Amino acid sequence: MKQGLYEPAVNNIDKIIQTLKKHYPQARDTSLNYQEPFQLLIATILAAQSTDKQVNKITTSLFEKYPRPPDLAAADLPELEMAIKSTGFFRNKAKSIKKCSQELVERFAGKVPQNINDLTSLSGVGRKTANVVLGNSFGHDVIIVDTHMKRVSGRLGLTANTNPDKIEQDLMKIIPTGKRTDFSHKTVAFGRTICLGRNPKCIRCFLLAWCRFGQANA
Ligand code: SF4
Repeated sequence: MKQGLYEPAVNNIDKIIQTLKKHYPQARDTSLNYQEPFQLLIATILAAQSTDKQVNKITTSLFEKYPRPPDLAAADLPELEMAIKSTGFFRNKAKSIKKCSQELVERFAGKVPQNINDLTSLSGVGRKTANVVLGNSFGHDVIIVDTHMKRVSGRLGLTANTNPDKIEQDLMKIIPTGKRTDFSHKTVAFGRTICLGRNPKCIRCFLLAWCRFGQANA
C-alpha cells in the first residue's frame, strides 16, 4: 500500500464504486449544456471559477452567436467579454476562448482533437478540461479531477496528494479500467449532495465505513 493512502478505502474500491453507482444512477454526464465537442470545450473553460449553472445561463445565446470555431476565432473581443461577463474572470476567459478557437482553426482544421496532448496544447485548456471533453464527448476512460474529486478522494484516503495531476495519477492506479469516467461523474454528484466542502454529512454518509476523514471525525 502506497504511503499516505487509507487501506479500507483502497481495498474496498469496488464497493465504493458500486455504492456511488446505486445512489447516483442519473449522474452520467457533466451538468454543462452542450451539443458537440466544441461547445463542451468552451463551456468547460468558462466554468473555471464559476458554476455549471451560471455557465448554462449564457451558453445558449453564446453558441447561437458563435456556433463554430471560426466564428469565435473572429469574435470582437469587447463584445465577447460582455457575452460571458457573468461567468467571472471574463477578460481572461474571453482571450482564452478566442485564442483556443483560432488554434483549433489553424492547427486542427476547426475540429476538437481527441487526445490529451493536443487538447492541453490549446489556450486555456488544462488536464481537467481536456478530460471532461475526452470523457464526455469522445467516450474515453478518464479521471476528471475537479474540486469535488479533489476533496472527496482526499477525504476518503484514495490519494495523499493535493496537486490535481498527481491525484489523477493516483486514481488511475486505483479505479479500474472502464469505470473512471463514470466514477468521476458519480463523485461530483456525491460531492454536491453529501461530501460537501463545508460540513460534510458524514453521519448519514453511505461511504463512512471506508472513509479516513469520516472515521476520524464523525
Ligand atoms: Fe465525505 Fe464524510 Fe462521507 Fe467521508 S464520511 S466521504 S468525509 S461525507
